[in-house]
Amino acid sequence: MAELEGLEFGKSDFVLLDEVTMEQFMDNLKLRFEKGRIYTYIGEVVVSVNPYRQMDIYGRDTIDAYRGRELYENPPHLYAVSDAAYKAMKRRAKDTCIVISGESGAGKTEASKYIMQYIAAITNPSQRAEVESVKNVLLKSNCVLEAFGNAKTNRNDNSSRFGHINNYLLEKSRVVHQQEGERNFHSFYQLLRGGSDELLESFHLQNDPSVYAYTKEGAATTTSNNDRSSHKAVMSALDVIGFTQEEINSIYQILATILLLGNVQFESDGESVQIVGLETVNHIAELTATDPESVSKSLLYRTVATGGGEVIEKGHTEQQACFGRDAFAKALYERLFGWIVGRINSVIEVKDYNPVLHGKNTVIGVLDIYGFEIFDNNSFEQFCINYCNEKLQQLFIELILRQEQGEYNREGITWQHIDYFNNQIIVDLVEQPHKGIISILDEACLTVGNVTDTVCLDSMDTKLAQHPHYTSRKLSPTDKTMDFQKHFRIRHYAGDVTYSVEGFLDKNKDLLFQDFKRLMYNSANPVLKEMWPDGQLSITEVTKRPLTAATLFKNSIVALVDKLACKEPYYVRCIKPNEMKSPVAYLGLLENVMVRRAGFAYRQHYARFLQRYKMTCEYTWPNHLMASDREAVEAIVTQHGFQDDVAYGHTKLFVRTPRSLYTLEQERAALI
Ligand code: ADP
Ligand code: MG
Repeated sequence: MAELEGLEFGKSDFVLLDEVTMEQFMDNLKLRFEKGRIYTYIGEVVVSVNPYRQMDIYGRDTIDAYRGRELYENPPHLYAVSDAAYKAMKRRAKDTCIVISGESGAGKTEASKYIMQYIAAITNPSQRAEVESVKNVLLKSNCVLEAFGNAKTNRNDNSSRFGHINNYLLEKSRVVHQQEGERNFHSFYQLLRGGSDELLESFHLQNDPSVYAYTKEGAATTTSNNDRSSHKAVMSALDVIGFTQEEINSIYQILATILLLGNVQFESDGESVQIVGLETVNHIAELTATDPESVSKSLLYRTVATGGGEVIEKGHTEQQACFGRDAFAKALYERLFGWIVGRINSVIEVKDYNPVLHGKNTVIGVLDIYGFEIFDNNSFEQFCINYCNEKLQQLFIELILRQEQGEYNREGITWQHIDYFNNQIIVDLVEQPHKGIISILDEACLTVGNVTDTVCLDSMDTKLAQHPHYTSRKLSPTDKTMDFQKHFRIRHYAGDVTYSVEGFLDKNKDLLFQDFKRLMYNSANPVLKEMWPDGQLSITEVTKRPLTAATLFKNSIVALVDKLACKEPYYVRCIKPNEMKSPVAYLGLLENVMVRRAGFAYRQHYARFLQRYKMTCEYTWPNHLMASDREAVEAIVTQHGFQDDVAYGHTKLFVRTPRSLYTLEQERAALI
């Protein structure tokens, strides 16, 4: 429970609510926000409301005020949990992790920056040079990751389309297509608007996003990003991080290649397919250090192994050629991004000391994860993101319970069982082998022949008809909000989400013809070659099916959850101010308050408790004469008559209901 703040700012910890209802929760959140208090606790969890304006609460003096202090000694702040995470790591030599969640635009990325800044500041008071340089790399890497991993979306001008540092799911379909009002990744516009004439000329590019198929959608959109100055910042950041000039060149050559690819068009004379305008192909060959014939060939043909082991070349239809080109462009970008992230991580890791990966073994990870997404039209990407949130929610409740249990054990207090909604059933619906949605999707992708999205939906309807968290129009025919052929709905812990299966199979297959991989592997540019090691394989070796996108995603989420499960987690839950209510539900915040209150709402070291309340009791004011602080605390508790509401731990007092504390607070307030 946070102190040092008057009641006019509302309750600084939700466990202090009189009753845990949505109404009381919202009233308190709103009151605090109106009073300029953007942070509130639920125990050790920080709930943050995006202020959308610069707050004067992140400066040096604030850092000093929070440094080394306990959570409840200052008003709620990101710095307080950062410090708690840091102390836990030092004290218990355990990896800690700060998990930041919330929907797009809620303030996750900003929060992660403030946390890194805080940890960097407290771990390097003497500003040692090598630490400064890693700090620099970290802060600079933000700018690079934002350029390549972010885009303007309709919800947030600077939405992260990847999980922080680990690129779990770059929304690569964005490379070739954006929704109305949205942009491609910033990096493209930055290059086109910020690149020098000389650079653009050498890439055969014009400084106008509206002439490229992949950027013209978002070209006219005004955005808060200043592409021109960002380009310079990114170039210099890449340099500071340690990318060589050759690597930086390669990065921009790949971006240029993607832009040119988007403008490659095909025509068919009914028999074979041709490329319109071979000049672009020449430019692509030049930029990728390959030859034009090979580029043309990989755009127009695919090599296939026949049943008899014979290798033949099969011409694309016009549609296949377009599909192949777009898949190639997406894959180029995805591998580029993955490579950049990998390089940044390796630069950070080799240093012997660093503010985030701290010391040799212990780590404070800062994880900024896309939150629950419910759009008007939800597709494969939202399906993956929401599944990820189900997994994290499960871990969240489990770990919070475990943390509570651990604290009670350490303090020698009896643990009581707590009931809570276990969302395992929804996780199973998505990931269970053979029965779950991912398995059904994968099966449909493996089936030879004309399996469409609709056929796949049929199969899901058949297999999941009985599942309490799954439905579709066919299963609920009276529900006119869904289309028969297109939609299914999952009852997530955060609410119902209707998904359109359109494009699910293609996105899941994520097919890229081997010919493109081989083309890139054979590039004379070593950077490009490095990104395509699988291009080595000959066609007869690639018989094994690659894992599908959903399965790859699932594997990385499972690995992430395993990693987090053995860390000491701290949580920041971000909310947007204009639509607070549904996120409170999405994030399971009431649930969290209940778990917290089912045990002891409040705990405090004896000495600190005394310091605060000793004036409310004649035996302790101004100083007590008892054998221990604990006995003195007992005297206060007894005098105020809530001895049945507390438990005495080895070092801390535990109070079950917030009401007792309030009585005490009021008395204290009356005396000072
Ligand atoms: P997310 O990563 O959750 O999608 P961001 O962290 O990018 O969201 O935040 C979106 C925008 O909201 C930021 O660009 C910034 O303008 C504003 N914002 C978020 N958090 C804060 C904050 N603590 N103080 C001031 N502005 C903020
Ligand atoms: Mg973000």
